[in-house]
Amino acid sequence: MARYGMVIDTLRCVGCMDCVVACKTENSVPEGYNRDWIAYDTRGKFPDLRMEIRSERCNHCDTPPCVSCCPCGASHVHERGGVVLVHHEKCSGCKACIAACPYDARFIHPEGYADKCTFCVHRVEEGLDPACVAVCPTHCMHFGDLDDPNSAVTRLLQSRRNHPLLPEAGTEPRVYYLT
Ligand code: SF4
Ligand code: SF4
Repeated sequence: MARYGMVIDTLRCVGCMDCVVACKTENSVPEGYNRDWIAYDTRGKFPDLRMEIRSERCNHCDTPPCVSCCPCGASHVHERGGVVLVHHEKCSGCKACIAACPYDARFIHPEGYADKCTFCVHRVEEGLDPACVAVCPTHCMHFGDLDDPNSAVTRLLQSRRNHPLLPEAGTEPRVYYLT
C-alpha cells in the first residue's frame, strides 16, 4: 500500500490562497469553513529573520488520534494510501476528533458530521493531483507516495531541509515543509 503525503516548499509559496479557493470549489466546502488555510511564521534569529508562509491542512497522520478517539468508527484510515477520512453517515458529531487533533484541521460541517481535507482522494483515484496541488501557480506543492524511493516527494525530502508540524505531538504527520 502507498503512504500518501505532501511536501510543500515554503521558499516558493507566496500566500496567494489559490490552494484555499481550489479546495473550497473542488469539495464544495461551505461558506465560513476551510479544509486548508495559509499560516505565517517568523523563522531565524534576529536580525536574520524571514517570513515562512505555509499552506496547511490535515496531516493524514500515521498515528491519528482523531481515529483512535472516535466512538463511532466514523474516522478511519482509508486503504487508499493510508489517507484519514470520515464516514459521514456514521459520524454523530460528538467533536471528540476535533478536540484530539493538534492541528485544528477539523470542523463540524453544517450537515452535522466532522469534515476536513481528504487529500482529494476522489481525484487521486483518477490519477490526478489534489486540487490544491494542481492549481498552485508557483508549483510549491507536491503529492505522492512517501514510501516510494523514486517519488518526487521522497526525493525532495532527501535533498532539502524540511520539517513537519508539531512532531512532538507524536501523531507522525505526513505533510512536510521544505525550508
Ligand atoms: Fe487526524 Fe488532525 Fe492528524 Fe488529520 S491532522 S489525521 S485530523 S490528528
Ligand atoms: Fe467520530 Fe464524528 Fe465524533 Fe469525530 S465527531 S469523533 S468523526 S463521531
